[in-house]
Amino acid sequence: MMKTDIEIAESVKLKPIQEIAARLNIEDGDLELYGKYKAKVNKVKPKKHGKLILVTAINPTASGEGKTTVSIGLADSISASGASVALALREPSLGPVFGVKGGATGGGQAQIAPMADINLHFTGDLHAITSANNLLSSIIDNHINSGNALKFKTVAHRRCLDCNDRALRNIVIGLGGAVNGVPREDGFVITAASEVMAVMCLATSLDDLKTRLGNIIAGYTPDGYVITAKDLKANEAMTILLKDAFKPNLVQTLEGTPAFVHCGPFANIAHGCNSVAATDMALKTADYCVTEAGFGADLGAQKFLDIKARAASLKPACVVIVATIKALKLSGYADKQKLSEPDEAALRKGLENLKKHIENMTQHYKLPTVVAINEFISDTAGEIELVKNYCKECGVEAVPCKIWEKGSAGGLALAATVMKAADNFKEKEVNYTYSLDDSIEEKIRKIAVNIYGADGVDYLPKAKEALKQITNGFEKFPVCIAKTQYSLSDNAALLGRPRNFRITIKDLQVRGGAGFIVAVAGDILLMPGLPKVPNSENMSINSDGDSIKGLF
Ligand code: ADP
Ligand code: MG
Repeated sequence: MMKTDIEIAESVKLKPIQEIAARLNIEDGDLELYGKYKAKVNKVKPKKHGKLILVTAINPTASGEGKTTVSIGLADSISASGASVALALREPSLGPVFGVKGGATGGGQAQIAPMADINLHFTGDLHAITSANNLLSSIIDNHINSGNALKFKTVAHRRCLDCNDRALRNIVIGLGGAVNGVPREDGFVITAASEVMAVMCLATSLDDLKTRLGNIIAGYTPDGYVITAKDLKANEAMTILLKDAFKPNLVQTLEGTPAFVHCGPFANIAHGCNSVAATDMALKTADYCVTEAGFGADLGAQKFLDIKARAASLKPACVVIVATIKALKLSGYADKQKLSEPDEAALRKGLENLKKHIENMTQHYKLPTVVAINEFISDTAGEIELVKNYCKECGVEAVPCKIWEKGSAGGLALAATVMKAADNFKEKEVNYTYSLDDSIEEKIRKIAVNIYGADGVDYLPKAKEALKQITNGFEKFPVCIAKTQYSLSDNAALLGRPRNFRITIKDLQVRGGAGFIVAVAGDILLMPGLPKVPNSENMSINSDGDSIKGLF
């Protein structure tokens, strides 16, 4: 029987985290230890100017394409080639861990560890973010209850929790009479979709964090003026709650490669990449930093480049697009039950999806691009050849890797290709999709037309109304489109490379603290639900509490 991810992870003897830190010249005195194998990093001595490698993918299927797995395996392979490297990855959310997808610590031989810890409470960052977010909610409701001097008409900020609980999407609070507050409709979002999470990811210092938290829009007055967290004097206290969470976490891969794992917004409803603080540390301490952007390149990579890279002046040196034969076939409408069988027609059709992402990265963002074929044991040599030749015709190299099966030994060719591409590239500003001076509509149009391949954008009445309200400098914000991850379009059923479609924007929301406008395209849930049979049903723990089954 093949070992499960957690069995593999638990069979590896980890190194003390100080040893891992030493590989990045981080001294013991700059670490806050959370047990033997996890630490928060207070500061680093900037010595390196690392090259940034962005790992993204084709449009995903429900199980994920292996971006995290390939990111980890690629970093291990770079390290095995003798270069200095650090990962910068997102922290998992408990929603997917107990729901459908599972954790976010990679798989097979390419994992970060301690796996169970990272997937569960880790160093408490998500709990701290939840607390800071909900402190603001309690301050808002207390303010309204205490006379509402700031004149809240609507409350924009919502409570959050790190779990998939659809029953909390729309709730009524303050019931039970006057002593229990003012009743109103409210709702929870998952912590990964909260604005505090986005703020944590984009803040460049604790002071910037405080300023951004202060700019979170708590609500609106009857005249449409914004009331911020700062107006409620909430941002200092929120920052206090986040002072430790704001420090990047350091862990290791199963092969001992250093990995900064910090903050984790989803890429469909938020901007989808780990914190600027962690990416920055990785770049200052290693020659290569491998980072992952969530979901497909239309969501994660687009937001990484147009939002995060712009905000933090990051300049990627190479983009890696992960594809699997199975997902390509699915993208070509193959029969889900027969994915392990060769199906050339479906594979060719699915490759059109990959081609659009390659075009976006090479022609649009003008970045060196390598396709990583994340090999499954069922893949055939013929299928791999087909993908390699197809990519060659698109002008990029596709390199198969067996990092899931073999760890770094299965990724040396990929590492060599990626390092070469990154080394040969002369760093420059990203060729952004839009200028911050473009109108909000123009920004959305450019993303829809150039990145998704849409013919244009339609606005529902609510979105048109919201557009009119975006003034006072908010129109200079970048745009974060909330869209299905399964399609280049806003219709999850349109696989491959959809053509002749338009994008519909239903609503627009200003995220004053994160500093972007969320444009809602489609019914995207900010609080996911559990599936009929959640992962949680297949989990167990032994009597000593030191062996868990069913986490993956
Ligand atoms: P993503 O980051 O794209 O969402 P992950 O790296 O988290 O995807 O991988 C999703 C799941 O697929 C994990 O459970 C992982 O173990 C599994 N997986 C990834 N690559 C392979 C592979 N080559 N063979 C078998 N399983 C894999
Ligand atoms: Mg991932």
